[in-house]
Amino acid sequence: MKSNLQQSAFSVEDLQKSVNGQVITPGDAVYDESRAVFFSWVTKHPGAIVKAANAEDVKRVVDFARDHELELAVRGGGHSIAGHSLSEGGIVLDMFGMQGLVIDVSSRTAWAEAGLTAGKYTEATGAHGLATGFGDTGSVGIGGLTLGGGVGYLARKYGLTIDSLLAAEIVTADGKLLSASEENYPDIFWAIRGGGGNFGVVTRFKFRLHPVSDMVGGMLFLPASAETISGFMAAAEEAPYELSAIANVMPAPPMPFLPPEIVGKTIIFAMLVYAGSGEAGEKAIAPFKKLATPLGDMTGPKKYPEIYAGPEGPHPVAGSALTMFVDKIDKTDAQLILDRLNNNDAPIRVTQLRVLGGAMARVPVMATAFAHRSSKIMVNVATLYENLADAGRHEGWTKETAAALQQSDKGAYVNFLGNEGEARIRAAYPGFTWQRLTEIKRKYDPDNLFHLNQNIPPSK
Ligand SMILES: Cc1cc2nc3c(=O)[nH]c(=O)nc-3n(C[C@H](O)[C@H](O)[C@H](O)COP(=O)(O)OP(=O)(O)OC[C@H]3O[C@@H](n4cnc5c(N)ncnc54)[C@H](O)[C@@H]3O)c2cc1C
Repeated sequence: MKSNLQQSAFSVEDLQKSVNGQVITPGDAVYDESRAVFFSWVTKHPGAIVKAANAEDVKRVVDFARDHELELAVRGGGHSIAGHSLSEGGIVLDMFGMQGLVIDVSSRTAWAEAGLTAGKYTEATGAHGLATGFGDTGSVGIGGLTLGGGVGYLARKYGLTIDSLLAAEIVTADGKLLSASEENYPDIFWAIRGGGGNFGVVTRFKFRLHPVSDMVGGMLFLPASAETISGFMAAAEEAPYELSAIANVMPAPPMPFLPPEIVGKTIIFAMLVYAGSGEAGEKAIAPFKKLATPLGDMTGPKKYPEIYAGPEGPHPVAGSALTMFVDKIDKTDAQLILDRLNNNDAPIRVTQLRVLGGAMARVPVMATAFAHRSSKIMVNVATLYENLADAGRHEGWTKETAAALQQSDKGAYVNFLGNEGEARIRAAYPGFTWQRLTEIKRKYDPDNLFHLNQNIPPSK
């Protein structure tokens, strides 16, 4: 397959004529801002960016890319760590213009176009006291996040994002728009619940909404020691399923509500979310506050959409990250995390810990293409830094830290994978899951048109 629009016999005018949305090409005033994505180290130069206006546009772009043998990237929120939402020289199908949302309060369902972000969706459904669980960051696209699984603050109470997915409309490699659900096209519906963008372009999702109006929680800052880290993990495991906790063990960043003398010291920067209100919520977060005198405490009663309020972290120039699952973080593991963090000088370095379980673990492992239902704790080791000359050092640190923390669970979460090679993609999709995904890929995308993702090749 050719990847470069410039080398193609077909002009950009042909492409513009075939769609309703805008087509942006190199030289256009908005070209550079249109190819900017969350991670600023992803700097590909697409031949054309098509801002799809509707599902018809999506079909036409898929047909155009396939017929003219052009590389096709699909962009949702643009947060792919591996840079999969851009193509070098090919076409980017940008879903950002498709943000329609139809909320049916009586049936507690919502049809959401794939260009929405988690933040926008949650704000709109929050107005009705309803929510679908996405991740920890509002600017992440519902497209990529849902297709990979979706691990967020409601995972223990209501499951992964895909566990609330009732149907999806998807344009497959032959340009057909399928309406997939448990009843219709159950094979592709199984595959897109965890298998990423390998099977087509989802134009809209139908989600179940849950009655989540209020929450108790927010940011909590604790001193980091082997005792507080392991205590935090024990408290998160014992907490009711309404509560999800993320612990970022990291040097304290400068923040207005942290005492200046703390900045640079290793702390637990935690986010606690109890999906519910009142005394039960206060009771659920109390054990975390008792682990040590908090360095900062922003917890309290809130409206659920406030999980996405406030400024997000920096858009880093360079970074390295590895994702994995572990069974436990005891005092020895916690001390290892601290020792490793103290052994690096990247401006931002973090070991992020999330206790899983609850509703996401009750779904049978074969029910969807997300294969890590029984994993206990998700860990992300990451560095962010400014000086590219330090890349080798920080990547080495990340690898060594992840290797030191590795336990018996050898899985990986696809949505946090970078460009790490086939073995790591296989770790996301072990055994039967891989086999079935490759077979479904052969049926719906035998020529691997949709390959800018954590790629699942068609079975032979
Ligand atoms: C700051 C940050 C925080 C995060 N937090 C969480 C978290 O808490 N929980 C979690 O589960 N994940 C989290 N993630 C990971 C996130 O889910 C993935 O990066 C996800 O792929 C991003 O989706 P996107 O649409 O924003 O990205 P994009 O880069 O636009 O897309 C990612 C992949 O999905 C494909 N894709 C996107 N939309 C469609 C579509 N409509 N049809 C077909 N394919 C599509 C793209 O082609 C690409 O391969 C986080 C990532 C970041 C950067």
